[in-house]
Amino acid sequence: MKELVVISGKGGSGKTSVVASFAALAQNAMLADCDVDAADLHLVLDPTVEHSEDFVAGKEAIIQTGRCIACGKCMEICRFEAVSLTGPANELIDKTYRIDPIDCEGCGACVRVCPAGTIAFEPVVCGRWFCSTTRHGPMVHARLGTAQENSGKLVALVRDTAGKWCEQLGIDLLITDGPPGIGCPVIASLSGATLALVVAEPTVSGLHDLDRVLQLIEHFQVPAVVCINKWDINAEMTERIEAEMQSKNVPLAGRIRYDNAVTKAQLQRLSVVEYGRSEAGDDIRAVWENVHRSVFDL
Ligand code: SF4
Ligand code: SF4
Repeated sequence: MKELVVISGKGGSGKTSVVASFAALAQNAMLADCDVDAADLHLVLDPTVEHSEDFVAGKEAIIQTGRCIACGKCMEICRFEAVSLTGPANELIDKTYRIDPIDCEGCGACVRVCPAGTIAFEPVVCGRWFCSTTRHGPMVHARLGTAQENSGKLVALVRDTAGKWCEQLGIDLLITDGPPGIGCPVIASLSGATLALVVAEPTVSGLHDLDRVLQLIEHFQVPAVVCINKWDINAEMTERIEAEMQSKNVPLAGRIRYDNAVTKAQLQRLSVVEYGRSEAGDDIRAVWENVHRSVFDL
């Protein structure tokens, strides 16, 4: 199985629009939406969920106050300062110990020292993941709960599930919509992939973000190609980025023009290549041909 990961140095580069079009052009590739913090591929691909499960990551300590003898040992041992005494000021007798779920790192130390055995240690449901079918093929996607961390683990789960499903169905290409940036979720979506396509914008900050993400890709020894989205909003910067890529021996997969058809297609929940004929659609088809050839040459 070959795996193409589409990433960008930051959000809002048009990465998901490119992935949705690739899904339409690939004809029955496996799709994985690893942008779990802001998943939106489903908005275009309109999946039918066939299977879903909670995403459980880590544990959380909760004091069952009725049995607490107020010894304070949990507060003493917690090095994350997650335990506090709450209640009326200056009335110690009415105060109760409480664990802040945001600060609790789930280390379990307080559970071990509590003499009353009154601290519950429960698995935390951080989100949900889904195996679905779409008009362009099967898709694995997920939703991380509000203010939840562990997105790297959820990305790894989505990717792993998509890879196994590819094997079961005999699908030879996995297209992954990767998270933006250079953090842990990007690393989880990138390592071991066949090819990374970086979607960049022709701005000074776009070039800076592109440089950072290329360093990360190089570190993980994943071959990379670059395409520039909305290249014609700043042709000069596009040429500068392309010159830099040539000097770094990073192949260019193409340019995509700014085109209102992209937004119009999104409003109709379509990828741009499904939305009749358009300049951006033609450009994405050309980028797809380059990328498809590259991923199967590797
Ligand atoms: S589980 Fe660890 S981090 Fe959470 S309250 Fe107990 S000691 Fe603190
Ligand atoms: S260690 Fe247990 S009994 Fe002591 S204050 Fe904490 S929760 Fe209460």
